[in-house]
Amino acid sequence: MFDTAIAGSLPKPSWLAETEKLWPQWKTQGPELQQAKADATLLWIKAQEDAGLDVIGDGEQARQHFVHGFVEQVEGIDFEHKVTMGIRNNRYDAQVPQVVAPLRLKGRVHAFEAQLARKHTKKKLKFTLPGPMTIVDTVADRFYGDKVKMAMAFAELLNQEALALQADGVDIIQFDEPAFNVYMQDAADWGVAALEVAARGLTCTTAVHICYGYGIKANVDWKQTLGEEWRQYEQVFPALAKSSIQQVSLECFHSHVPPELMQLLVGKDVMVGVIDVASDVIETPEQVADTIGLALKYVPKNHLIACTNCGLAPMSREVAMAKLEALAQGAALARQRYSV
Ligand code: ZN
Repeated sequence: MFDTAIAGSLPKPSWLAETEKLWPQWKTQGPELQQAKADATLLWIKAQEDAGLDVIGDGEQARQHFVHGFVEQVEGIDFEHKVTMGIRNNRYDAQVPQVVAPLRLKGRVHAFEAQLARKHTKKKLKFTLPGPMTIVDTVADRFYGDKVKMAMAFAELLNQEALALQADGVDIIQFDEPAFNVYMQDAADWGVAALEVAARGLTCTTAVHICYGYGIKANVDWKQTLGEEWRQYEQVFPALAKSSIQQVSLECFHSHVPPELMQLLVGKDVMVGVIDVASDVIETPEQVADTIGLALKYVPKNHLIACTNCGLAPMSREVAMAKLEALAQGAALARQRYSV
């Protein structure tokens, strides 16, 4: 009951990359960089296990950014000539690569870190991939001329990598779709369908993470404009409830999401965000248990997973570590409180 997991990313140590940045520069290159990525992955596996989490991830230590880590291994994309583009409906500008030819995988994308993580933890292993719609929103299209067509092309590539990750021994494959909260109608119309293409044929557990973004200033400012009630999930959850995706990760603690929207996910495992990633204040176990208690009004006990609202990548290592411990301690307290 109340398994604990992180959304995905964790801070990179200062010897691996620039700290507290969303698109950090690596500190080294070549074989030395590969070794540093491996060391950082092992460090965070140990930290998650020491904190007492039930589901372990690689902390996304081997990728610069959650979208570009995948896209870098795709043929048909010009990474040499990045362009500035407003992303997430122009919420902020990003340097994005351009799609210039038919898309094809160059080879395996995440074999190194997935196999390394599998070798070093006996716990459930979750691996994250960007969702097709969020990828489409984070590259400049100079070839397809049609968002849906391009999303389906990316979905096929994601499916190839997801099946290979499953063969590596990954237990849960999670697709990250923050774009679902920005283009809600598109998400319901074709985003969920693209996600199902990406997850086609998987027999491991499948998940989707939908959030209001990392705790960076552009996102914090955007949230101020969303009003008292954030009802974005209301448009997307019914389509997800009908889909084959088994787990849904959502923001809860310190968000303005009406908790009753969780009811729309009937039949799904719900990864409830009990840790705020936009604040350095460490949650108390009581606060975490209270949030779990609130979610229990709408989610059955055996379907509730305690999670972070989003990734912890832009935070300091110390804060992230303390938040992992708060997550595990809060879930333990909730087990005592709500087990009968
Ligand atoms: Zn997120």
